[in-house]
Amino acid sequence: MNHFEDRAGPAGAELWCEDVRLSDIAEAVGTPVYVYSSATLERHYRAFHDAFAPRDVLIAYAVKANGSLSVLRTLIQLGAGADTVSEGEIRRALAAGAPPERIVFSGVGKTDAELAFALDVGVAEINVESEPELERLIALAATKGKRPTVALRINPNVGAGGHAKITTGDEGNKFGVSLGEAERLYARASAAPELDVAGVACHIGSQISDLTPMEAAFTTMRHLVERLHAQGLKVRRLDLGGGLGVPYFDQPEPPSPRVYAEMVERVVGDLDVQLAFEPGRLIAANAGALVSQVIQVHARPGGRRFLVLDAAMNDLLRPAMYDAFHAIRPVVSKPDAPRVVYDVVGPVCETGDTFARGREMAELAAGDLVAFMSAGAYGASMASEYNARPLIPEVLVKGDRFAVTRRRPTYEEMLARDTFAPWLE
Ligand SMILES: *Cc1c(COP(=O)(O)O)cnc(C)c1O
Repeated sequence: MNHFEDRAGPAGAELWCEDVRLSDIAEAVGTPVYVYSSATLERHYRAFHDAFAPRDVLIAYAVKANGSLSVLRTLIQLGAGADTVSEGEIRRALAAGAPPERIVFSGVGKTDAELAFALDVGVAEINVESEPELERLIALAATKGKRPTVALRINPNVGAGGHAKITTGDEGNKFGVSLGEAERLYARASAAPELDVAGVACHIGSQISDLTPMEAAFTTMRHLVERLHAQGLKVRRLDLGGGLGVPYFDQPEPPSPRVYAEMVERVVGDLDVQLAFEPGRLIAANAGALVSQVIQVHARPGGRRFLVLDAAMNDLLRPAMYDAFHAIRPVVSKPDAPRVVYDVVGPVCETGDTFARGREMAELAAGDLVAFMSAGAYGASMASEYNARPLIPEVLVKGDRFAVTRRRPTYEEMLARDTFAPWLE
């Protein structure tokens, strides 16, 4: 249930976001445009939160999935925290109104400047991912006279995820300290008066559609917590990361938050720790659509048909980067339109700029609108200006209202960020 639904209209069924026609947004704002549904964001956050009720869990929404300030504020108002991986994301979370005590700072390569910023902000938890980072943080905390709360991110040596590029929990991945060094480093951190050590964290990958690897990783984490307790070390928080997958329509339905929560309770529920989670995709993916217009249909002799859209890989990178599948729906369904097979492409000068090959769809013509579904996570947040295409606008819908939450920059604004080297002026 994602609040993007077809409703009967004069020209055929039309795709709405909540109580707003996508075609009205396209007309007002232009295309391509990202459209987000408040009701879907709220629904997904609540579904995850309620699955753990009455347990008091920290749900730190992963800002990198969709860092739109309006999206963040929508979730923060519901009680969400923020999982951040850069100073920029911490600043986004703060700007959206996240209280520092709900901000988690993760990432394999935090610079001294970023760590110092996190210390000044007083974030809830810095997830330390390596020994050199631990030592840098201790030194920095001493210099600044701060005592940050930290968790040690463990690599449980269980990888999972929808694609090799988004698997993070394998021993060969760059994330976290290995199990073999976890106890020594945890003891080291716990002994450092500069740090308040809260617990351990893991995050094994993204778009995970099978609970088996998660259960294996959480079991490993459970045993680690028990070993740490046995050594007299305090563990009061267990951060189990994000990664739960969402249905992208071509895949089997991933487990629901409820089934996931049942597994979590079974594996770690009896530990005396606060549980924290960092879901990103699960909250945002199906809350967003990318609306694009057909520029032209290019039929090659031999039968291949290219549906050339005004959206491209710089706007939605997932198909090019991860071979990701997005359902592509007509915004206005023409009754009796014949089914046609298209290669759906954007205008960028790379063959990688292909959204779908051999996709059977209702026939479309120049000027028609389509919507890429499930584009709310890792869509706008991964966009670039490749081919000098300005970042596309974002719109948030709530009921029958919509607002542009990031406007389309002008070409002048885009060019104004460059300056000439003095010898070229
Ligand atoms: C990306 C990331 C997440 C969110 O992953 P999703 O698959 O979007 O839920 C959570 N935690 C960390 C550390 C991450 O890097």
